[in-house]
Amino acid sequence: KMPPFDYTPPPYDGPSADEVLRKRAQFLSPSLFHFYKKPLNIVDGKMQYLFDENGRRYLDVFGGIATVSCGHCHPEVVEAVIKQTKKLQHSTIVYLNHAIADFAEALASKMPGDLKVVFFTNSGTEANELALMITRLYTGCQDIISIRNSYHGNAAGTMGATAQSIWKFNIVQSGVHHAINPDQYRGIFGSEGPKYARDVQEIIDFGTSGQVAGFISEAIQGVGGIMELAPGYLPAVYKIIKKAGGLCIADEVQSGFGRTGTHFWGFENHGVIPDIVTMAKGIGNGIPIGAVITTPEIAQALTRRSYFNTFGGNPVCTAGGHAVLRVLEKEKLQENAFTVGSYLKDRLKELQKKHEIIGDVRGRGLMLGVELVTDRQSKTPAKSEILHVMDEMKDMGVLVGKGGFYGNVFRITPPLCFTKQDSDFFVDVMDIAMSKL
Ligand code: PMP
Repeated sequence: KMPPFDYTPPPYDGPSADEVLRKRAQFLSPSLFHFYKKPLNIVDGKMQYLFDENGRRYLDVFGGIATVSCGHCHPEVVEAVIKQTKKLQHSTIVYLNHAIADFAEALASKMPGDLKVVFFTNSGTEANELALMITRLYTGCQDIISIRNSYHGNAAGTMGATAQSIWKFNIVQSGVHHAINPDQYRGIFGSEGPKYARDVQEIIDFGTSGQVAGFISEAIQGVGGIMELAPGYLPAVYKIIKKAGGLCIADEVQSGFGRTGTHFWGFENHGVIPDIVTMAKGIGNGIPIGAVITTPEIAQALTRRSYFNTFGGNPVCTAGGHAVLRVLEKEKLQENAFTVGSYLKDRLKELQKKHEIIGDVRGRGLMLGVELVTDRQSKTPAKSEILHVMDEMKDMGVLVGKGGFYGNVFRITPPLCFTKQDSDFFVDVMDIAMSKL
């Protein structure tokens, strides 16, 4: 049984799901993204739940792709956004505004070391584009190294850094090199992080002048199927990159804002301090905002020209982001991600004993992955099976994400207010759905 929840959405009087589907097919750009045989029409959301046009409640285990950090339509975030919208919706960067400055200060206070200067953007892609550019401006070099199986965005530079063919189009990607993925499930060196790092040194020695602009990586690859980089990899790579004159970028678009439970930022789990940190998704709980944070010295690189972004640091988005930060702290959501995430991971590991199809259970906090394989020895991806399980789960009221290069990994990234009861319901539903295969 789904845990009880004290909220009933108001009656829906919009167009039917079929009507929305017709309009989508006719007027929206075509996409390869189809999770369900019959798409859902989601019209309402409250905390960790979503509602369709019939008022049916679904447990949201995807969290809008690791984006809804404090819960759908969290009242304090909604209030902050409404209040600011009524006061000042937009001015422009040439004037001062306290909503922007206050949030920048609050964000900087969450960073280690000398990471104190904030640039606001509208998305994760823009944040990473800016970060890549800063490394090139600061170092005077062009070569960037990213990791295979990573995802960093869909504009020219970030699509170049992204390293999965399914997310790449044939555009020019000069100066980007893709290092071997320190993949603990399929990788040749297992969990021995420093061994994978040697590939980064080889790229520098044999693919560049010996000097690089920078290195970018996620702490846990999200789109790539919740792959936690092998321990010891990042510290070893950071050393190599620094020696080659480059800057290290931590892409915290998915793994930041307490999602990993043990730390506020994903990179902290690896014991490194980056030169530049990028973020989006969880920073706004669904409000479009992103940010780049770096040191005052590195930030100087941007003063050589006028750098400007019309909406970046918009007062409505920054007021919303600031409220998100307050809610995360007040409701101890990072701690909750740790407690509930550890409990959920244990339960999923139990489930793995029962179902041969579960090849791997991994991740941290409320950023977990369950990889399905048709055979544990060969690790053959169970691509069609996962779709059947997802459809069955949807019918029982559970929405979960899917990803990985082969599309065979469940992505478990719910709002951080997820409870143990939600975890029990989710695992029980997954169990039933897998039993039906
Ligand atoms: N970096 C990572 C790690 C991401 O997961 C994503 C989005 N999936 C991005 C960057 C790009 O963010 P956005 O979609 O907001 O442009």
